Amino acid sequence: MEYKIADYKTEVHNDWCAGCGDFGILNSIQMALYDLQILPHEAVIFSGIGCSGKTPHFINTFGIHTLHGRVLPFAQGAKLANPKLKIIAVGGDGDGLGIGSGHFVNAGRRNIDITYIIYNNGVYGLTKGQASPTLKLGMKTKSLPQPNVNESINPIALACISGFTFIARGYSYDVRYLKEIIKKGIMHSGLSFIDILQPCPTYNDINTKEWYQSFTIDENNPKVRIPKIYKLEDEGYNGLVTNNDEASAKIMAAIDKANEWEDRIPVGIFYENNTVPTFEDRLQTRINNYPDYPPAVQNIMDDEGNPNTNIDRLIDELKAVKKG
Ligand code: SF4
Ligand code: MG
Repeated sequence: MEYKIADYKTEVHNDWCAGCGDFGILNSIQMALYDLQILPHEAVIFSGIGCSGKTPHFINTFGIHTLHGRVLPFAQGAKLANPKLKIIAVGGDGDGLGIGSGHFVNAGRRNIDITYIIYNNGVYGLTKGQASPTLKLGMKTKSLPQPNVNESINPIALACISGFTFIARGYSYDVRYLKEIIKKGIMHSGLSFIDILQPCPTYNDINTKEWYQSFTIDENNPKVRIPKIYKLEDEGYNGLVTNNDEASAKIMAAIDKANEWEDRIPVGIFYENNTVPTFEDRLQTRINNYPDYPPAVQNIMDDEGNPNTNIDRLIDELKAVKKG
């Protein structure tokens, strides 16, 4: 039976502000799941706290709305417990790169096969627009009494040096292209990160839809308009690592591209490395039957509900310590 796009939607009322970029991201995730025909009961969407945290309410898969900054521990734990699930973690820039930044970096070290999506709008939208870690230094959005006094984090660059093996960026109003990026992220074997530029029309009055979709004029030919957002592949960029020896050079190239901002902003796949073992692969070298016998399929009690765990040896050792 083929699932329809409607099968990936819920009836839950959506109270995001009119014109919010979150709608495009939601549609892209639903369309990606539909295109890939990932069955609703085989996918789980986890979210942190923020406007984006409501995403699992609107997608008809399993879903858990977790704690502020803690979406990655939940998502990684679920994948390790049941590696057959397709796991997507979502959250805002404040959630993932402020309080959650330690989890971001350490997830990169593991390379667990999940997809992490950040809705990046430069502000803490749910709490009235304070400066988030991705707001550029010196910017004064409408909720700030004075310009932002902190340097910003570049999420793509941080993912590059943390060890993510698929790193991409999309734009929330280019839904068809974003859907393709999300599909590639889901199908990648390893930890995927997708940074999505998401206008917040309510609190970020600088990086608006009009700003992202603006043009500059070619100084050599005034008739040519150069769009601010461009696709990396259209300009010959290729971030795919085919041999691990070239990984360092590709990471440096990705960071260099990620630093482009203002007049030109690239979207697409910055870095992709399929040569790194996943955490699950490494686990299997210690626990041979892990893929067939992960925690989710193990019995934890007998028919009477008694735990199967045998702690006799532990008790014996404790007794010996007490005696000794
Ligand atoms: Fe979207 Fe901003 Fe409204 Fe949140 S506050 S729903 S991010 S427009
Ligand atoms: Mg935000």
